[in-house]
Amino acid sequence: MAVSYLCIMKTDILAIGAHPDDVELGCGGTLAKLISEGKKVAVVDLTQGELGTRGTNLTRAEEAAHAAELLGFSARENLKMKDGFLLNSGDYQMQIVKMIRKYKPEIVLANAIDDRHPDHAKAAKLVSDACFLSGLVKIETELDGEIQQPWRPKHIFHYIQWRNIEPDFVIDISDFMDQKIEACLAYKTQFYDPKSTEPMTPIATKDFLESLTYRAQDLGRLSGVAFAEGFTTEKLLAFKNFEGIIL
Ligand SMILES: [Zn+2]
Repeated sequence: MAVSYLCIMKTDILAIGAHPDDVELGCGGTLAKLISEGKKVAVVDLTQGELGTRGTNLTRAEEAAHAAELLGFSARENLKMKDGFLLNSGDYQMQIVKMIRKYKPEIVLANAIDDRHPDHAKAAKLVSDACFLSGLVKIETELDGEIQQPWRPKHIFHYIQWRNIEPDFVIDISDFMDQKIEACLAYKTQFYDPKSTEPMTPIATKDFLESLTYRAQDLGRLSGVAFAEGFTTEKLLAFKNFEGIIL
């Protein structure tokens, strides 16, 4: 997969997923919305999803690139960590520190803190720890021969994927639901396709595809909008005022 298609460094948001498609499933609507508002979004996939029952690392790379185009990411990289065996190791932490220092995001979006796939919770902690370490002056890193400066994102929010985790807040994605589904369906080998001859998996069912819309609709019902995506936060959020809250 292309390392990055634009020579950008500073971004507003860095979305990180254990597998290609995690970001689209968990926060694709939010990313589409932020990009439409002019924010810069970079995405880092930790593994190639090579243990997935359907597709291969190559098909998934193509699908991830297609989804990135549909959503308008400024960059997308894959760290090629070991699918199924993510570890909160010093080596993996430092690889993510380099990405955080490269993209300098204000906000990092990471996997759900608890989920069906064990890599998701591991990625949640791994990314969270890397965000802290990235701010430490005495941790020195180099990327492409250049010394990097410390950078600590202001917030880490965890998107929700398989399990129904109660969100701390939701983002209204009413105008971006179609774009989210389209980006998810870019992963042709992974999700519902009545013509596919590949083995069935829990995420390849029609039910799963429909649940994406159902969950967004239900979070919307509870919050007073048409569709929403939910997030959990690691620290208490303070708002400057009540503007922006949908009443
Ligand atoms: Zn995943």
